[in-house]
Amino acid sequence: MDYQSLFEQITRAANPAALGGGHVVGHTPAPTTTDPTRFGFAVADLTAQVCGTGDWQVPFPIQSLSKLFTLAMVLASDGDNIWSRVGKEPSGSPFNSLTQLERDRGIPRNPFVNAGALVLTDRLISLTGHACEALRTFLRKESGNPALNFDMRIARSEQRHGHRISALAHLLADYGRLDNPVDTVLRHYFWQCSLTMSCHDLALAAGFLARHGLRADHSRLLTCSEAKGINAVMLMGGTYDAAGDFAHRVGLPAKGGVGGGIVAVIPGRGTLAAWGPALDRHGNSIAAVTALDTFTTHTGWSIF
Ligand code: GLU
Repeated sequence: MDYQSLFEQITRAANPAALGGGHVVGHTPAPTTTDPTRFGFAVADLTAQVCGTGDWQVPFPIQSLSKLFTLAMVLASDGDNIWSRVGKEPSGSPFNSLTQLERDRGIPRNPFVNAGALVLTDRLISLTGHACEALRTFLRKESGNPALNFDMRIARSEQRHGHRISALAHLLADYGRLDNPVDTVLRHYFWQCSLTMSCHDLALAAGFLARHGLRADHSRLLTCSEAKGINAVMLMGGTYDAAGDFAHRVGLPAKGGVGGGIVAVIPGRGTLAAWGPALDRHGNSIAAVTALDTFTTHTGWSIF
């Protein structure tokens, strides 16, 4: 594959200044990571060789991308038991919907809506004693980046402003779906969202999903069927309530976050990570979706 010319095409197509529009999320002034002209893209193969273009080595807040990794960690311990606490269906509603959780009597629609993520964080606290630190350790190992860390300003700011997610956590507790105190679950959730990683780090960290559950060193994290399950749920619900449009355009399982990152998996071939802070109305990065669309259109490497 001639990545050089492919990267040039991607950079032209996904140039945020040319695409325009969108909005940036960020309660705290963090100019490096909220500058809407930023753009990065990385590809990792099955042997953990990684290359990229643009701002592919600039760390940004992973936000909801953290949900992908907490799901993997919980599945690695609990196996299929987790699916009795959280569903596998597309949500078709905003990721922070209270009415959907109420209609579903406290069983979140999938692990990637905020209520689902809280249930996973709750379980990870019980399994590890310290969910966000366990996640940081996991991500440092999988990405090979020992400097990967939390952004305290983001965690604290979201803690102050996160009224809706607090309401979701209280609703879950009211249905008896949390084993740990609401405040503890929320604290770990905000800190996990504040972890900052680059496209380079993310493409490597998600590699086990392309290797059918195997880490880069060939040790097994998940069974083939668990890895397949995560990819399937990502395809259905990883890109908010625009998962259908995303699947139509890109044709890969992927997870997005409001920090502007998207991680996509090409099972049996590799992983992609794209970043651009400006988001569309669903919460997906405009530049990242365009970059992934351009990549699969030119390589034909989609699952369809
Ligand atoms: N911390 C954000 C929230 O809970 C994450 C949202 C996202 O990336 O989807 O609202």
